[in-house]
Amino acid sequence: MAIFANQVNKTYQSGEVTVQALRQASLEVPDKKIVTILGPSGSGKSTLLNVIGGIDRYDSGSIKVGDTVLDQLKDRQLTDYRRKFVGFIFQQYNLIPTLTVEENVEVGRELSQQPLHMKDTLEKVGMWDKKDKFPSQLSGGEQQRVAIARALIKNPQILLCDEPTGALDEETGKNILKLLKFVNEQYGTTVLIITHNQGIGEMAHSVIRMKSGEIVDSYENENPVHPEKVTWS
Ligand code: ADP
Ligand code: MG
Repeated sequence: MAIFANQVNKTYQSGEVTVQALRQASLEVPDKKIVTILGPSGSGKSTLLNVIGGIDRYDSGSIKVGDTVLDQLKDRQLTDYRRKFVGFIFQQYNLIPTLTVEENVEVGRELSQQPLHMKDTLEKVGMWDKKDKFPSQLSGGEQQRVAIARALIKNPQILLCDEPTGALDEETGKNILKLLKFVNEQYGTTVLIITHNQGIGEMAHSVIRMKSGEIVDSYENENPVHPEKVTWS
């Protein structure tokens, strides 16, 4: 699905202090594209992802994802939108420690109308042979792959990734980014990635930079790199 944000503003009130997290943020992501968001800490990157994904509200402006305009939705409708269409991946994997890999991924089905098959999804991230393990038995990279499978199983229209490689070593992080690129290519999922990891910019169709709540520039990548196949060690 395409994503349009038009002059979105968002402030947070903490005690006496008002923080303007988004200032007139406008953005256009065509359907099936992969876009990277760069910017210093505190520049509003997570806030932007959260309002697009329906886990946070904005104060003014407009956001449209596919045919859904988020502005006027009631809380319940916004939750349904998120559960049907949006996959989230965070720096913290947020797996449920008492559930196996397969059970954790099962949680991600939510309201999907066309979920993917469990085996296909776990094979996609190279975790099918570990489906009965618990999170504590996995490395960080493996846990993030499970978190990606959990986001993928609903076959989301948009995948929002907030520093997905932030807790991983460089090599593992690269593989995770390649995996996201493959997801974008294979399923046509629109992917937004916040990352400091060099390299993803080359794979992305475009790169957006934020500063102090504003989108300060963006550029298109004429020839996005197609990475070679990911091999999981
Ligand atoms: P980034 O992801 O680029 O680091 P954020 O979107 O998390 O930036 O934050 C943007 C600004 O909004 C920061 O100044 C941050 O402190 C503030 N902020 C974010 N979330 C909250 C919140 N829940 N309450 C108060 N202030 C917040
Ligand atoms: Mg952030």
